[in-house]
Amino acid sequence: MRRKDGQGCEDLTLIAYDASADGDDGYFKTETEKIAWLKARGFNVSETRKFNTPDEVIEYRRLVSEKRVNLPFDIDGLVVKDDKTDMEDLRLARPERQIAFKFELEQAVSILKDVEWSESGATYTPIGIIEPVRIAGTTVKRANLCNPAMIRDMKLKIGSAVVVVKRGEIIPKIEGRAVREDGFGPDGAAPDMPLFNEVSGEADSRLLPIEIPAKCESCGSSLVDAGTRLYCPNPACPKRLLHRIVKWVNVLDIREAGKKTLMQLFNKGRIKRIADLYTLEVQELAAFERMGELSAAKLVHNIRAPRSLSLADFIAGFDIEGVGSLTMENITLAGYDSLEKLRAANVEELSGVFLTGEITARSLVDGLRETADDMDAVLKTAMITITSAARRPLAGQSFCFTGELKTMKRGEAGERVKALGGTVNTSV
Ligand SMILES: [Zn+2]
Repeated sequence: MRRKDGQGCEDLTLIAYDASADGDDGYFKTETEKIAWLKARGFNVSETRKFNTPDEVIEYRRLVSEKRVNLPFDIDGLVVKDDKTDMEDLRLARPERQIAFKFELEQAVSILKDVEWSESGATYTPIGIIEPVRIAGTTVKRANLCNPAMIRDMKLKIGSAVVVVKRGEIIPKIEGRAVREDGFGPDGAAPDMPLFNEVSGEADSRLLPIEIPAKCESCGSSLVDAGTRLYCPNPACPKRLLHRIVKWVNVLDIREAGKKTLMQLFNKGRIKRIADLYTLEVQELAAFERMGELSAAKLVHNIRAPRSLSLADFIAGFDIEGVGSLTMENITLAGYDSLEKLRAANVEELSGVFLTGEITARSLVDGLRETADDMDAVLKTAMITITSAARRPLAGQSFCFTGELKTMKRGEAGERVKALGGTVNTSV
C-alpha cells in the first residue's frame, strides 16, 4: 500500500487470489486446488463457484449484481477462470485462461460546472468539474473531456447535463450530453440550445460557453488547437523541458530523483536539459532543502551509473510528442538503426515506415532537430551508450512462441530474444 513504515496495516484486509511456486509450473493443477490451499493456510479468499455451462455463469452474475449493494465492499464484476491453471500465462499482462465479466457499465447524469485545463508537457487537457455524483461506489467530481474537439462535437457548455461513465480509468469520462426521451436534457435544455434566447435576445444564464485557453501559462506562446490536441508549440517552453527531464528519469528508472527535486533544480535554472543531470555534484545537492549528504550521493551515483540503451529507448526517452518506444522500434527495424541515419531521414521517408503516419514522422524530425545538442551532450558523457546493431544479432526479426518449450519457459525465451535485439509478439 506504498507505506514503508507499515502504519495503518492493522486496518487492512488482504484477500489472496493467486499463489505460485517458483520454478515449478505444475504445483497447482487446478484453481480449485489453489484456492483450497490458500484457505487451509488461513488466507482470506474471495468466493468461488464451479460452473459447467456459460448459462450458469450468466445467471450467477445476475444474482451477484443484485446482491452486491449489500456487500461491505465495492465490486465491478466477476472473474471467470478455466479451472486448469496456467502458471505461465498468469504472469503475462493478459492472461489467457481467465476473463473479467463486468456488470453493466457504470454511468450517471450530472451537470458540468466548470472546465479546468490540466497540463502535461506541451499538452493541455480539459477536465470537467461536475456536480458530485456517485458512480461505482465512489463520488465523482472530475471527469475527463479529452480534447477541444470532443467539447465541440458534444456541443458542451458550462451548465450542460452530461453523461459520466466510469470504466475502470482513474478519471471517469464525460461521454456526451444527457438527453431525455423528449429530446430535452434533464436540465431542461434542448440538445443544441442556443446560448441566446432567440425571442428575447438575452443571454441564457444557465449555459455559458467553455473557454479554450489561448496562451501557454508557462511561456505565453499562443497555443495550437489541433482539435484532438491543444498544445504549446514553443520548443523552449519550460513546461515542456521539465517534462522531458522527468520522462528521461522515468525511462531510465533513476532512483532518488523525485519530481520535486527535479522541479527545484529546474526552477533554479540548474538543469535546463537532460545533459545537465550528468553535471550534478553531491555537494550542491546536499545543500538542498531536505536532502542529506547520503541521499545526494545516492542520487549522483544513480544518475551516473553507466547504462546502455537501444536506439529506440534512447530516442523515446527524449519525450518527442507521439514518439514512444514502440514507434521507434518500428522505425529502427525499418533500417534507421543509428542516430546518424535517423537524422539524415526526412518526413517523407519516415512516414513510409510501417505504422508511422506523417504527423508522427514530422514530430520525430522536428524533435530530433530540437534535441540534437542535448542528445549529443548526453552521449558525450559516455555514461549513456546506444547498443550497437552489431551486438543485436536478432535485430529486425520477430518471434512468437507457442506451446511448451523443452529447455526454458516462454517468458525466458522472450527475454533472451529481446536481449539480442529481436522483438517478441504474443500472436502471429
Ligand atoms: Zn509554453
